[in-house]
Amino acid sequence: MSYLFEPPAPFALPIEGQEDVYPVSRIFCVGRNYAAHAAEMGAEVDREAPFYFTVSPHHACLGGEVAYPDGTDDYHHEVECVVALSGAAHQLSPTQAADVIFGYGVGLDMTRRDRQAEAKATRRPWCLGKDVEGSAILGALTPQAEFGALASQEISLRVNDELVQKSDVSLMVHSIPEIISHLSHYYHLGAGDIIMTGTPEGVGPVQRGDVLQARLEGCAPLDVRFV
Ligand code: MN
Repeated sequence: MSYLFEPPAPFALPIEGQEDVYPVSRIFCVGRNYAAHAAEMGAEVDREAPFYFTVSPHHACLGGEVAYPDGTDDYHHEVECVVALSGAAHQLSPTQAADVIFGYGVGLDMTRRDRQAEAKATRRPWCLGKDVEGSAILGALTPQAEFGALASQEISLRVNDELVQKSDVSLMVHSIPEIISHLSHYYHLGAGDIIMTGTPEGVGPVQRGDVLQARLEGCAPLDVRFV
């Protein structure tokens, strides 16, 4: 038996200090995980449990030149802390979940805000707003051993040298072990699964030609230019 056509190679992330790369299976994204971002979107955080949407791994890309997508006039940046899993996680407690973290990186969860707003207004799914080709822009991973504990590292984004998003990861409503634990009661998580853990306040539109510098203290920088 052979494939009718050649399946696409998995998307893979560079790892700081290693030759091997990290093949990405699934991309889970957390919504409204910083109170100040929820407020700027006219929403309140859901403190009882996180909620999610997914982005196809085929829609992930590395930094550098990234295409501005079709179908939007309001394409927004969301800088986020990305966590990558190292192994199986099913029905774990938050304490157990901390043991399946491979490492961290910085990413941009790009969003067709106009399409997302229409979906919210019509109570339809967010796919056209969120599952956008090239929308999960991901930086290299730093293994947890080198990164250390996630505490209050600064996360920031500059657009054309102007600081537009700046926060720290201690302000997440749901911590990363809580998120992994919660997700592990709905999915058989494993190595290759990554989670984009939500954006702080300061989201806004980008245009073709804009240069974005996403940073998470302790991780490789992520630089993007929209073309
Ligand atoms: Mn997001």
